[in-house]
This record gives sequence, structure tokens and C-alpha cells, in this order.
Amino acid sequence: MSKDIKMITFDLDDTLWDNMPTITKAEIDTRNWIEEQTGKVDWGTFEDFLETREKLIKNDESIAWDISKLRKEIFKIKLDHIRPRDLRDEIVEEAFKIFITKRHEITLFEGVEEALEKLSKNFVLGVLTNGNADIFKFDIGKYFKFSISSLEAKDSKPNRAHFDEAIKRVDNINFENILHIGDHQINDIFGAFNLGIESLWFNNKGVEWNQSFTKPDEFSSWKNLPELISKKYD
Ligand SMILES: [Mg+2]
Repeated sequence: MSKDIKMITFDLDDTLWDNMPTITKAEIDTRNWIEEQTGKVDWGTFEDFLETREKLIKNDESIAWDISKLRKEIFKIKLDHIRPRDLRDEIVEEAFKIFITKRHEITLFEGVEEALEKLSKNFVLGVLTNGNADIFKFDIGKYFKFSISSLEAKDSKPNRAHFDEAIKRVDNINFENILHIGDHQINDIFGAFNLGIESLWFNNKGVEWNQSFTKPDEFSSWKNLPELISKKYD
């Protein structure tokens, strides 16, 4: 039986655009800007970052889902030697502004805009993201009715908070009326699967499915998405 899909929710990072080049550049440019203000900074390894993150979460649970706060706290720790403290905090605020601006310098995958335009005519579209990109900063924001980030959900996918919040945003929508689309096998597909939500897996890198539940239909090009959806759900 074909489900009565009325709403499509989308992940952002690595689903609408390739996130690695954007985040890497945003990170490097921000660090360079900071070092222009302060001199060399020891940024540490990724393992150091994870360890610091754990410590911060122990003191402040909101750091787990407020990734903007996390980033600022990390900057503060890295610039702990800067005096006076007010100066350090000003540098941190400015650095974050630079980061978040550059974090929005993305290139959409081919076909995204056309697909969203088509789909928005027949479905309510929403965003469910663990990241801090704001869809409404882009031209394609006009196709979306709502966007829920981890900051708003106070939790991260695959937990259910994003999905619970999504059905509050639109009248007469239940989980069985949602199709969720994302690249991440756990955060997106497992998260949806747990709630009986239909999903499509965006797999543009030819990744192998390694979950213990049945793989949903997948697509590798946005150009094929409207047709795939209309075949499955019309
Ligand atoms: Mg993603």
C-alpha cells in the first residue's frame, strides 16, 4: 500500500550540498583570522576536540545540541591566554560570525533547486538538521515551510525530537504522512525508521548499506528525485 505522504523533510549537510569543503574552508579561514588577531594558536587534534567536548557537556548539557555554543566555548579555551577577558570574548564573538558566514558558502548539488521547486508544489517541505546552517539564508529557503535544527529540537537526530517537532509545525500531519530524506544511515534513516516514518536515502558516494534493518530506496542524483517520489507516492 502506498503511503499518504503529505510532507517531505530534508537533512541539509551532505544531502543538499557537499559539506566537507565548506566546513573545512570555514574552519581554516576562521582560524587564520583569529591568528591574525592573537598570534599562533595551538588548535590541537580532533581527539583533543572530542575530549574537550565531553568535558564541556558534563558541565553544560546544552553543549550537546547547541553546536554554536560548543564552537564558541572551544574558541574560548583555545584563547584562554588572551587578556583582558573582554578582549578574548570579543575575538570569539567576531570569529564565530566569520565562521557562520563562511559555513553558508555552499554549492548545491546539481538538480536540488529544480527538484525542490517541483516538490514544493505537491508537498509541504521542511528541514531537519543537526547542523547550524540556516536554510532561510539561501534562495531555496522559499520552498520550505519550516526548519528545525538541533538548537530548536534540543536534541540531535537520530533521536525523535526533530520528528516530534516537525508534526507540530503543520496541521493534520502524522508520522505516516512524512517522507524523510537524508544521507546519514543512522541520523536520518534509522531515526525515521524508528518512528515508522518513510525515508529515502541520498547515497551519491556509492556507500554500502550496513544497517540491520531493510535499506529504503536510495537515489544518487537530485535530478531523479521528483520522478522517484511521484512513482512511489502518487
Ligand atoms: Mg547529513
